[in-house]
Amino acid sequence: MNVVVSDCGLTSDVISLCHFFGTRQVPAGLADLIQLGEVTTGPPSFPLIASLKQVHSTRVVVIDSPVKTGTMIQCDGDALVTNQPQLVLIVRTADCVPVLLVDHESGVIGAIHAGWRGAVDDIVPKTIQACVEQFGSDVAHMHVAIGPSIGPCCYEVDEQVIEPLQAAYPDWLGVLQEGKGGKGKFDLKKLIWHQILASGIPELQVERMEYCTSCCDDLFFSYRREGKVNGTMMSGIMLPAETVKS
Ligand SMILES: [Zn+2]
Repeated sequence: MNVVVSDCGLTSDVISLCHFFGTRQVPAGLADLIQLGEVTTGPPSFPLIASLKQVHSTRVVVIDSPVKTGTMIQCDGDALVTNQPQLVLIVRTADCVPVLLVDHESGVIGAIHAGWRGAVDDIVPKTIQACVEQFGSDVAHMHVAIGPSIGPCCYEVDEQVIEPLQAAYPDWLGVLQEGKGGKGKFDLKKLIWHQILASGIPELQVERMEYCTSCCDDLFFSYRREGKVNGTMMSGIMLPAETVKS
């Protein structure tokens, strides 16, 4: 595996290609390379990097042809999918959920930033659907890793979140532990996990990393714990040239 931040990032077992879930120990300079909404040149092991201006939307940006440094991609969005090799798809999180996916058969990858709003609005199923519609991926062949995010231990929400969740998701009691005063503990990762299984991806091909970004202050930034954005973790995935089928 050829991962630029492997020394300070986490990888999952379910995806066997170049990918990482970053921690707060991002190598100096890497964050500066990322130009939001633009394809930039990365270190030698990451020839090109694509990132987005994340806006808690359900917009999926599809990159289906070769890109060059300096190319503007659709700026606002919260998911990237591509069939292009040697292009690192990056998402940034600091409590929200980073989700990485791959279909080895069709040679397609995706990276998703899912906060509560995007998750309730189905950004993850919509990204999976984009892989199917745009690249002919088969959900039976897709592997997904759900990365570190705020856990239900630390994610108390009120009616601002609970009401949209209840409206969108009939099984909301399975992901929300109701508390006093109209509040509840929300398991955002579990909601996303359910949505992925409901999309048809086999359970054995879905991994959930149970780290809580708020609990693990040595590893992660946390907007909820710190009360402001001190920094974000970067997570990424790339198709090496040799894995792409013609
Ligand atoms: Zn926690």
